[in-house]
Amino acid sequence: MVASNASQEPLIVLDKVNKFFGDLHVLRDVDLSVGRGEVVVVIGPSGSGKSTLCRAINRLETINSGQITFDGNTLPAEGRALARLRSDVGMVFQSFNLFAHKTILQNVTLGPIKVRKEKPEEARKRGLALLERVGIANQADKYPAQLSGGQQQRAAIARALAMQPKAMLFDEPTSALDPEMVGEVLDVMTSLARDGMTMVVVTHEMGFARHAANRVVFMADGQLVEQAEPGEFFANPRSDRAKDFLSKIL
Ligand code: ADP
Ligand code: MG
Repeated sequence: MVASNASQEPLIVLDKVNKFFGDLHVLRDVDLSVGRGEVVVVIGPSGSGKSTLCRAINRLETINSGQITFDGNTLPAEGRALARLRSDVGMVFQSFNLFAHKTILQNVTLGPIKVRKEKPEEARKRGLALLERVGIANQADKYPAQLSGGQQQRAAIARALAMQPKAMLFDEPTSALDPEMVGEVLDVMTSLARDGMTMVVVTHEMGFARHAANRVVFMADGQLVEQAEPGEFFANPRSDRAKDFLSKIL
């Protein structure tokens, strides 16, 4: 396949990325590219570097060597460029991180008004539409503590989307939820994926990986050990590490 059109360039490219915490080598020569509209699910044992990988992409973590390119921009993101990058990459964490003293709608409109300088009325309209999209428009005027975990996580997704990101990073977005609430959050993520959002998703939800991912990446000890299309990965994991991991979780 020959693709010379600029819009066909991958949105996210990691080139030989290394990260140390002191003596601990947490990301080892990580090469990864994520295409526009692609959904990449990252799996692997605890401590393998999955969160660090997400945080590095969003520049919440510096790297020691290698390069990370986002939308063609390889410059080290600092100052305004960093703020720009952060609003281009939405992030949803395990803990919902909503502002406790703001309503759900205020949580969603705050970034657009403060950072994107949207008019409050416009931000409110878009915010309500996003809450509608994640199925919690009727919770708009409540405070986070009044919502279930699943509703709070859907609000966190709406808040990230309100910044009109080019990509979304999800770091174990359902791990802190009661089991009965996992599905409603995965449904929102699946619909985002179908709508063409570029997504990097760290998750232990193999059902989501199977039906929503274009590619599964398996990490262990800071390395990308193998990556494949989900059907292929789950049917034929090649490395012993991946086989061992799958045997424990499936
Ligand atoms: P995962 O998300 O796959 O569980 P992490 O990226 O959180 O893995 O962590 C990878 C390794 O880096 C772990 O050994 C973890 O203890 C270590 N680590 C993560 N963050 C820090 C930090 N801020 N300081 C020191 N060590 C860290
Ligand atoms: Mg993690």
